[in-house]
Amino acid sequence: MKAVFQEPDIYRRARERMVETQIAARGITDERVLAAMRKVPRHLFVDEALRDQAYADHPLPIGEGQTISQPYIVALMTEALELKGDEKVLEVGTGSGYQTAILAELARWVYSIERYPRLLERARRILEALGYTNVILRLGDGTKGWPEVAPFEAIIVTAAGPKIPEPLLEQLAEGGRLVMPVGDEWSQYLVKVVKKGGKFYRQTLEPVRFVKLVGEYGFKE
Ligand code: SAM
Repeated sequence: MKAVFQEPDIYRRARERMVETQIAARGITDERVLAAMRKVPRHLFVDEALRDQAYADHPLPIGEGQTISQPYIVALMTEALELKGDEKVLEVGTGSGYQTAILAELARWVYSIERYPRLLERARRILEALGYTNVILRLGDGTKGWPEVAPFEAIIVTAAGPKIPEPLLEQLAEGGRLVMPVGDEWSQYLVKVVKKGGKFYRQTLEPVRFVKLVGEYGFKE
C-alpha cells in the first residue's frame, strides 16, 4: 500500500479496536496478520453509506447479493494460510477486494478471481488507488483455478462450496495450504488442506456461513 495514504484518525483507531477486541481477543496470534488488519483501510472497500459499520463484528453487503466477510473470519482464514512473504497466492472470490489487500500485504503475488464484473472493477479501482502492485485480477469461474500461473503456495476460497474443487487441489504446490468453507447453503465448516509428500491432509476449523461458490466445480446457478 502507498506510504503516502492519509486518513482521518477515527478509522485508524477503529481498526486498532477491531484488532484488539474482535481478532486478537479470539485467539489470532500471527503478528503479520494482526499488522495487516491494523493497516488496510477496510472502510474504503464498502459503500459510503455503510462506512460507519466497516469495523463492526459482522459481514456487510457489497452488491450483487454478495458480502465482505466479518473481520475475524478474514483474519482466521489468512492466519491459516501461514504466509511468510514470498508466496504466490490464489484467491477465489475477490468480492470487495478487502481480503485481497490483506493478502497483498503478506505475500509476494496475489491472483484473485471474481465472477461479477461490477465487483471486480470496483475492487480493481480501490486496490489500484491504494497502490497495490502485486495483485492480478481476473473475471471468471474461480472453481477452475488459474492453471497458467499454478502452482500456488496458498489458495483461499471466500465462498462456500459442496466440496473442494478438484482443479484447486491440483494447483496447490507441495507444502501448500488451502482454506475454504465447505458445506451446503446453510451450514458450512472452514476446512484447511495441507499438501505434503503429494498427499492432502485435511483439518476442520470453525463453523461459518458464506455466500455460495457458483461454478463448474461449485454449486450450479
Ligand atoms: N473476500 C471477499 C471480500 O473480502 O470482500 C469476500 C467475498 S464474498 C463472501 C464471496 C465472493 O465470491 C463473491 O463476490 C462472489 O461473487 C464470489 N464467487 C462466488 N463463486 C465464484 C466463482 N466460481 N468464481 C469467482 N468468484 C466467485
